[in-house]
Amino acid sequence: MKLTYLGTAAAEGWPALFCNCEYCVRAKELGGKNIRTRSQALINDDLLIDFPADTYNHMLKSRLDLSKAKYCFVTHSHIDHFEPTDLIMRMESCFAHNMSEPTLHIYGNKAVISRYKHFVHDTDEEDIPPSVTVNEIKAYDVTAAGKYTVTALPAFHAPKETPFVYLITDGEKTILYLHDTGIPFDEVFEYLQKNAVKADLVSYDCTYVAIPSAGGHMGLDSVPAVRKRLEEIGVCNESTVHIVNHFSHNGMLLHDELSEAAGKLGFLTSYDGMEVEI
Ligand SMILES: [Zn+2]
Ligand SMILES: [Zn+2]
Ligand SMILES: [Zn+2]
Repeated sequence: MKLTYLGTAAAEGWPALFCNCEYCVRAKELGGKNIRTRSQALINDDLLIDFPADTYNHMLKSRLDLSKAKYCFVTHSHIDHFEPTDLIMRMESCFAHNMSEPTLHIYGNKAVISRYKHFVHDTDEEDIPPSVTVNEIKAYDVTAAGKYTVTALPAFHAPKETPFVYLITDGEKTILYLHDTGIPFDEVFEYLQKNAVKADLVSYDCTYVAIPSAGGHMGLDSVPAVRKRLEEIGVCNESTVHIVNHFSHNGMLLHDELSEAAGKLGFLTSYDGMEVEI
């Protein structure tokens, strides 16, 4: 299974849209892996996680055939994870020709479905692409999506809705995708233990980077404890790949600095376009 990180910043992007802080100025000067767009990932070439406004940029940068994506699992309705307007570009008659897959199936919580319906309501009826379906899922739902089995687990994040982190398996390999969330709820660890989940890769929310973390996001100060707990309950072992991702400019470390700090703790550091084969 291949995981590609398409966007690795928190909501504001890094450099942030209107920001002139020291860390955004340095990111613009240095370029490369210091340029981080909003959160999105791709499994193989057919399962997307999230659909932010930067999706178009991700298609360009990684030269993707996004019409190969059959499934899109949305974590929550925050704009850095779900901005449905560009879904209109899946309209076959004029915007998209020779698509690889006829339909993109989107899954998300009630707030995600509501945002999509709001978009539909504000859009002319004939502009709604019939090649997109939206499907509401609830915490602990297990969804069969082709060869994948995707479990939605409740995230400690965005209390106005029920955000999800996802457990994704193709029957051989398993990814635990912890975005966005603070330290996961006890019930999530209990679910993983009870179901004897073995993760080959864990992707950790690290929004706070080097500053003290709190609430609905994690940082370098909290991810080691989560990893330790996952190891203690048998979800992870010595061959599990651990990656930190979803970074805010307020966290203060540019890519090389962050990569060094995270490496000392045993974590890889994501960057836009990073591919990991497990
Ligand atoms: Zn986010
Ligand atoms: Zn900034
Ligand atoms: Zn969020």
